[in-house]
Amino acid sequence: MNKVNVVIEIPKDSKIKYEYDRRTKQIVVDRILYGSSSYPLNYGFIREALDWDGDELDALIISDQTFIPGCVVPTRIIGAMEMIDGGETDTKLITVIDCDPRYKHINKLEDLSKHTLLEIRDFFENYKNLQDKTVEIKGYNSIEWAMQEYNECVELMNKYKDLPKADFVKKMMIEHPEKYK
Ligand SMILES: [Mg+2]
Repeated sequence: MNKVNVVIEIPKDSKIKYEYDRRTKQIVVDRILYGSSSYPLNYGFIREALDWDGDELDALIISDQTFIPGCVVPTRIIGAMEMIDGGETDTKLITVIDCDPRYKHINKLEDLSKHTLLEIRDFFENYKNLQDKTVEIKGYNSIEWAMQEYNECVELMNKYKDLPKADFVKKMMIEHPEKYK
């Protein structure tokens, strides 16, 4: 089953990098994006899945609407963008809104326009340029790859949800060096 609830952190077209803090349960303004670009899509996380960077697994939502931070959007996973941020695996699941009949026909990455995929990639490749930080995009992956990643991250959350972020990353770097560089 590829249906997941995504908790919104950042609305589409925002330059504000809101981040949810799992410990305090608050949405914090981490920064305003340094460059001129803004988020091309609504962006959030999957509460039950912990990614290798110690944060919840990230997700982008295909929808033309703009959602408020903190709300929950029902979605379908249709693929993933494989990304390394600051040396840590930081996958972005690509999802599509699951309660809008206008998007019923979108069920895999190939159903999106090629340009949409280029735009998402371009945003993440460049959004940290003025911070002198580099992000490596390895490319897009299928729904099967994305589901495997999701399931793996659910397991990580079940096992390690109570471990502080820094301790989790330190432990995973030793146990799964392939996820870091
Ligand atoms: Mg992340």
